[in-house]
Amino acid sequence: MKILVLNCGSSSFKYQLIDMDGEAVLAKGLVERIGIAGSKIKHTKTGKDPVTREVDFPNHTVAIKYVLEMLTDPEHGVLKDLSELSAAGHRMVHGGEKFTSSVLVTPEVIQAIEEVVHLAPLHNPANLQGVRALMEVLPGIPNVVVFDTAFHQTMPPKAFTYGIPFSYYEEDRVRRYGFHGTSHYYVANRAAEILGRPIEELKTVTCHLGNGSSITAVDGGKSVDTSLGYGTAEGVLMGTRSGSLDPSVMLYLMEKHGDVKTVSDIVHKKSGLQGISGISSDLRDVEEAAEKGDERARLAQEMLIYHVKKYIGSYAAAMGGIDVLVFTAGIGENGISFREDVCRGLEFMGIKIDPEKNKVRGKEAIFSTPDSRVMVMVIPTDEEMVIARDTKKCCEGR
Ligand code: ADP
Repeated sequence: MKILVLNCGSSSFKYQLIDMDGEAVLAKGLVERIGIAGSKIKHTKTGKDPVTREVDFPNHTVAIKYVLEMLTDPEHGVLKDLSELSAAGHRMVHGGEKFTSSVLVTPEVIQAIEEVVHLAPLHNPANLQGVRALMEVLPGIPNVVVFDTAFHQTMPPKAFTYGIPFSYYEEDRVRRYGFHGTSHYYVANRAAEILGRPIEELKTVTCHLGNGSSITAVDGGKSVDTSLGYGTAEGVLMGTRSGSLDPSVMLYLMEKHGDVKTVSDIVHKKSGLQGISGISSDLRDVEEAAEKGDERARLAQEMLIYHVKKYIGSYAAAMGGIDVLVFTAGIGENGISFREDVCRGLEFMGIKIDPEKNKVRGKEAIFSTPDSRVMVMVIPTDEEMVIARDTKKCCEGR
């Protein structure tokens, strides 16, 4: 069974073609600047060099048609014919409270996703564009949507409710939803698999740290708390997002600037590593500047380490213990000194790492010492594989 996985943004999308027999990625690619001058595609057939082409993509439908041509191209393709494609799986950022797992796309599902568009006004419409474009280009195959929020729907009310009048939850569904669920689910389950332990027995803290970051408490395989909330700025310091703020700070910013858009730009686009360091949203640049003695870069770096430490400690307390600590995504998979700094000082809670074993980038590794009570791991995330597996499962259940 061959599945096309699509992760659609408003002007770009990523794709992978996965053969579920053996779970092999046959090809993958990135389409950028859809609807903007200079649109292009970078396509890679597994085992071959990437091909980059500038092509005019006025919309998602035209771009998806082109991807299908690439996938069946005699030289760069991996399919003889599109009839080999069994289904498509799509990343959907927000499923509100309605979707607790992945589902086959039907007109009712599309309508339900549209009903929660206000919760992810930038992401859901873009994700839906991909679904619609694929349905138009390949009407014969089933489509499945996999929600970033679904894994977190097991959080108990005490973890997802904000301390404002309850009517805002009842009437407007203002609550913690959490994001990166597909990634947290993947790495928590992969950790259990690597350790050869049933996930039901494990208390795991998963740290997904990239441009956007979130930390999740996974108790017995279920998300019980997560650091991102109603929107995507809560929790730890991110590339350009603030992380948790005292509401009074938001009120002050609103009074000072007087409009929601300006304040939204401040907390989403001008804060985080970028806002503190004044140098970059990329941790590598910040680390380099800190190394050279830049004080604000050093502060930004220290803040991120401190925030992550605090979440690990608080989630261990929330679960009544911790057996596994996992680092994933750009910073989590590659930040060697960052991981060491986060773990330093956590020996009191059973976290003991081996700095030599920690010297890995983008590879699965256990870097705790043999006598560490907590298994500390790096696991590269693979959201596409979760999407492909869920797509297969949903199609088999038809
Ligand atoms: P996104 O959230 O956009 O998917 P990624 O998961 O790709 O982002 O993470 C990107 C971030 O990973 C970069 O901004 C950078 O800060 C960080 N990163 C990548 N490599 C390293 C490294 N070697 N050391 C520290 N941070 C790194």
